[in-house]
Amino acid sequence: MVHEIPVRTRSRNELVDITGSVREILERSGVQEGICHIYVPHTTAAVTINEKADPNVARDVAEMLSRLIPEGEGYRHAEGNSDAHVKSSLVGVSAFVPVSGGDLLLGTWQAIFFCEFDGPRTRRCHVRILGQKNAA
Ligand code: ZN
Repeated sequence: MVHEIPVRTRSRNELVDITGSVREILERSGVQEGICHIYVPHTTAAVTINEKADPNVARDVAEMLSRLIPEGEGYRHAEGNSDAHVKSSLVGVSAFVPVSGGDLLLGTWQAIFFCEFDGPRTRRCHVRILGQKNAA
């Protein structure tokens, strides 16, 4: 079963920590051992796993991507958001996290971030938990 996480973004470029929502879905599923798949069904957004301890890391990722792939002239796509499409392809629209002992096997400093590149918008993210409810 696929679960949906609604994400409300507030800036054009922004990383939103969705770890808590993903963990809630995992806990409700009762799965102990398996894998968690997170999928973003948008062409100008993405998902990534990176450091949560210092919020400046998420800001740096968003800002450096914008410096590497600037908004503006030089694109063929007439909608004016080609930078966001390129960022979405570079970062990627899906992520996998191992599930062990009924929890996400994230590192101490890791969090799952929804990446907005053409906000602010109302977005969504799909989460599917694959695995077994009894520890093998
Ligand atoms: Zn577009």
